[in-house]
Amino acid sequence: MSEAARKCERVTRAGRPCQAKALPGSGFCRNHCPSMGEQRRLDAQAGGYLRKGRKTPEVVKVRKRLWKIADAVLSGELHRDHAIAATQALNAILRSLTVERDLQISEEMFEEIDRLEAQLEQVERARW
Ligand SMILES: [Zn+2]
Repeated sequence: MSEAARKCERVTRAGRPCQAKALPGSGFCRNHCPSMGEQRRLDAQAGGYLRKGRKTPEVVKVRKRLWKIADAVLSGELHRDHAIAATQALNAILRSLTVERDLQISEEMFEEIDRLEAQLEQVERARW
C-alpha cells in the first residue's frame, strides 16, 4: 500500500477504526496526531469550558456574577465605574468561551470531513 493511501491507526470514539488518511510521515490523521493533540489540549484548557469534572460551566458562573453586579449597581452598593470594568472583564471571558466552543466545533467538523472523504475515496475506488 502506498504512503498516500495509509489510514490513521487510531480508533474513533464510536469504536471503529479511524478512516481518515494518515499525515505524511505519521501513523495518524490530523485529528489523532499526538503532536497536534498537544496544541488542542492547551486550547481546551485556555477557556475551561466543557472540561470533564467541572460541575458548573464557566458560562453559568459568569451569568451569576453579571446578575450580582446589576443588582449591586441598582441598589447603590457598587459604583457604576467598577461595574463597567467588571462587566468588561466578564464579557472578555464570555468571548473566550465562544472562541473555544467554535474551535471544538471546527475540530469535530474536520474529523467528519476526513471521514466522509475517506468513505468517498473508497466508493470511487470500488467503482473503477
Ligand atoms: Zn484518525
